[in-house]
Formats: sequence, C-alpha cells, structure tokens
Amino acid sequence: MEVIRNMDQDERFEQAVRVTGAGLFVNLGLTIFKLFAGVLGNSAAMLADGVHSLSDFLTDLVVILGFEIARKPVDRTHNYGHGKVETLSASLVGLMLFVVAGQTFLYGLRKSLLVINGETLQQPALIALYAAILSILSKELMYHYTIRHARKINSMALTANAWHHRSDALSSVCTMIGVGAAIFLGGRWTVLDPLMAVFLSLFIFKVALKISCSSVNELIEASLDEKTNAEVREIILNTEGVRALSNMKTRKIGSNIAVDVHIKVDSGLNVGEADRIALHVEHSLKKTFGPYTYVLVKAEPDIPEPPIHPGKTGVCLRKEAETRPEEWGSEERNPDENR
Ligand SMILES: [Zn+2]
Repeated sequence: MEVIRNMDQDERFEQAVRVTGAGLFVNLGLTIFKLFAGVLGNSAAMLADGVHSLSDFLTDLVVILGFEIARKPVDRTHNYGHGKVETLSASLVGLMLFVVAGQTFLYGLRKSLLVINGETLQQPALIALYAAILSILSKELMYHYTIRHARKINSMALTANAWHHRSDALSSVCTMIGVGAAIFLGGRWTVLDPLMAVFLSLFIFKVALKISCSSVNELIEASLDEKTNAEVREIILNTEGVRALSNMKTRKIGSNIAVDVHIKVDSGLNVGEADRIALHVEHSLKKTFGPYTYVLVKAEPDIPEPPIHPGKTGVCLRKEAETRPEEWGSEERNPDENR
C-alpha cells in the first residue's frame, strides 16, 4: 500500500517537472527572441519584456534544479539532504534580478527623459510588435496547458505557475500597447515605449523581492506559514493512536518540508506499538507533503506528571524518517539497556 502511494507521489513529481520543463523552454525561446527583437527593433519596452522572460527562465531553472536536488539521496556528509542548494541558487537569482531590474528601470527612464527634453526617439520596428504578439499567444497557451496539468495532479505550485504565465501574457499586452503606440502614432508618442519599459521593470523588482525574501527566510530556518503548520498539526492529530502533540518545529529544506514533533501515546503500549504509531505519523505526512519530507517523531507516554528517576526516565522512541538509501556509521546503544 505504501509503495503504491509513493509511486503516485513520484508520478505527480514527474508531471510537475515535465510541465515546469515545458515552461522553461518556452521562456528560454521567448527570452532569446524578445531580446533580439528589442535590440533589432529598437524598443526599450521589448528589451524590458525580454529581461522579464529571462527572469522567468532563471526561476524555472532554480525550480527544476530543486526538483532534481530533492531526489539526490542523503549522504554521509549531508545528513539533511541537499535542499539548501536550491535555496542558495534562488537567493543568487534574486540578487541578480535586482541588478537587471535596476538597469532596465534606468534605461527606460533615461530614454523617456530624452523625449521629455525635446528629442525625438527612433520609432521601434515592427519586429518588436510581432515579438509582443507572439509572447501573448504563447503565454496564454502555456497558461491553459499548465492549469490543465495542475488540476490533474492537484498541485498548488503548478497552479501558481499557470497564473504566472497568464500575468506574463498581460505584461506583454502592455508591451504591445507601448510599442504599437510608438510605431503607429509616432512623434511624441514614442515616449510610450520607454515608459512601458520603466513600468515593466517594476514587475521584475517585484519578482526579485519575492525570491530574495523567501530564500533568505529559508536560509535562516523560518517556520512554515500558519496554514501549512495547521495542516501538519491536523494530519498528526488525526493519526490513530496519537493522543497529543507538543514541541512541533517546522522549516523548509529546499522544496521539501521538515517536521520535528513529540507525540503522546497510551502509556500502556510497548515500544513496538508506540513505534508503529510514530511510523504512521511519518507516512501520513509524506503522503501529503511528498516522499522527501523530513520527519522526526518522538513518542512519549501520555501521563499527567512523568515520574523522574535519574538514569531511567522512560523510553524515548526516536523515528528518523528521512528516506535514506543506506545506513551509515555504527549503531549507538545505551549500555545500561543491555543489562
Ligand atoms: Zn513572468
């Protein structure tokens, strides 16, 4: 039963990677064509739109990298897996996006000021307009493709991705308006093209800010959001045999989550029975949050005031729940227990 569940998880995973991969290739194609059209067509708005596609391509790359890294098994030198590699790459991408957003902003502003100071800009060429139309069409198609798969595998991440595609289509509508006005109205209206570049750079800033905040938060071990924490709590408390939970700690390791928790079980249970309950908690969490979820459950007897006897303070059941391919190191036993 558990194997089938994990296979389902893997299949969902594969689909998510495939759909994100398709988005990555579309964004790469659009980046190249838009930057080319922006330079050749002399359009600041199209250049900004191209830089936006570049930022989308880079974020897709980090997400795919994260998916691949999540599969990389735990090893002797990385006992918690390699998820933070994704976090680190994301913070670098965030930093880089601040730089390109700033450059795009200044470029558009400088060109706009030229027009305001009385100079006339060269009108953009039609290729910039074609690039905008192509971008709108392909992004709307990507929205439909992604949302269909998101519904099929019920993935929040993919749904967010789909809506991002649609918002990209909308920002290309802005580009189309700026470029179109500059081409067809000419004269002072050419200012609309660089002004649109300034406007679009704000969106790149927004992406940069979002990526940087979440990756820095993850690097300093922030807890999961309240909604996810409540979901984790509910799953644990709904597991049969769990009487209470305490000391719950959550955090993110790349695209995976990590949960440390103490559960209270019937004090009449033996070690094996208590361990089975801890295992159930682990499996339920992995079923919801993916096979690479890190879970550490400590089962404690459910008694009001635990008696304190030095050296014999009850049995702690520690269930290390990460999926590790092999055991390393020698087993450490409490010497008192062998007597
Ligand atoms: Zn975008």
